[in-house]
Amino acid sequence: MKHETKPVSPAAALAVLRPSACPGLVRVVPARDGGLCRIRLPGGVLSAARARALADAALTHASGVLELTNRANVQIRGVRTGEEAALSATLIGAGLGPAGIDAASPVERMCAADELRNVMLSPLAGLDPNAWCDTTEVAAALIDMMQREPRFAALSPKFALQLDGGECMAMLEHAHDIWLAALPHGATVRFAVGLVGCPTAQPIGMLAAEDVCASVRALLHAFLDLAGTDATRMRDVLAAHSLEALLQRAQQHGDFTLMHDDAALRTWHRAASPADLRLGAHALHADGRGYVGAQPALGRIDAHTLRALAALAEDSGNATLRVTPWQGVLLPDVRARTMPAALERLRALGLVVSRTDPLARLIACTGSTGCAKSRADTKADAQRLAALLPPGAEAHLTGCERSCAAAHRAPFTLLASAPDHYDLYQRDDTQSGFGQRFGRLVARNLTIEAAAPALAQRPRSAQDV
Ligand code: SF4
Repeated sequence: MKHETKPVSPAAALAVLRPSACPGLVRVVPARDGGLCRIRLPGGVLSAARARALADAALTHASGVLELTNRANVQIRGVRTGEEAALSATLIGAGLGPAGIDAASPVERMCAADELRNVMLSPLAGLDPNAWCDTTEVAAALIDMMQREPRFAALSPKFALQLDGGECMAMLEHAHDIWLAALPHGATVRFAVGLVGCPTAQPIGMLAAEDVCASVRALLHAFLDLAGTDATRMRDVLAAHSLEALLQRAQQHGDFTLMHDDAALRTWHRAASPADLRLGAHALHADGRGYVGAQPALGRIDAHTLRALAALAEDSGNATLRVTPWQGVLLPDVRARTMPAALERLRALGLVVSRTDPLARLIACTGSTGCAKSRADTKADAQRLAALLPPGAEAHLTGCERSCAAAHRAPFTLLASAPDHYDLYQRDDTQSGFGQRFGRLVARNLTIEAAAPALAQRPRSAQDV
């Protein structure tokens, strides 16, 4: 008797071969409003052509709603059941997949290559003439190295690296498993290296630029050697093993050339990244050429607006967009005389272009319309809060403790306790640890109207810029 075998869907195959709840290009995960597909953008770079392809795919296979994420990626919401594989194939065909991967590649290989693209760069990587170096080539080499080494497919989809070239704008609040930051060293550039943090933290040493790939490779092998079954992040390994044990293990994996005792490293500190640089028009060159920054309200954008942004990037800039880790977007290479008109078009599209706009200072997770875990409609509540937000106040609304919208501790966090009600936390950098994830509990079970006046108080933090 002949047995017919049913084709296995990519999601079903991945659930067995590479289980994870993290959405990706081929791992479209279910949510309350349909499937969720995350497209990783190395360096946040998105050409106008690919932005159009994304918008078309979101309309053809999903609800037409997209989100910019706090890792400078894009996700498509509301993917229709049964259209997941077609969506992934369309996106890969548009060049939005990992390099060297096509739609015929085995799904677990595609997925691993996709998930090994978690390298955070400045949105101004390769654009800021005052940066110490252009990190885009080093980042491409790091991603290529990780994708080539079969063992690194075992890294968690959340395992993340940061590569900082010293640009005037950088994400300096998200903790990364490994971070590297350029610093001047005589006539050359070297990289400070740190673990479980970002470039404002204490480095563990310094690398020559030419040693970055081999040394990160050795560190990743050492991490995997020491990681127990439940250890997915560097902090887990360092909770169970000393830093010395990790570094000794790295020495066994080829060239690991960490330098410690160096005056340039001892005196180095990462300059702050002013929040005002994220929005509006900013010159980078003596002739006034620079970039224009904007953000869609609460990180959400529809496909038609994304198409309009692609057209604007072609008309005013260099036909690319840069997605930022503040759920915003930059148009690079805009001439000084073009900037006012570009800003006006961004405003007309409904994007926020100034920090004085309350929506520039609010973030909210998907909330109960898209996520079954949410105890409140955080997006709608954030819109209500925008009308009441005190000048200068910043807040994060989250539907549950997972804090999908913010990888950092916001000055104020409103954690949903029930529909329309929130517990209010205030950042206090004198406290640390998971129990203090959002800071100090200020009040319980507040309505948005009751919470708003409390946000006028300045948070206790040295990180405000
Ligand atoms: S933070 Fe919680 S409620 Fe909000 S999207 Fe994430 S899992 Fe859902």
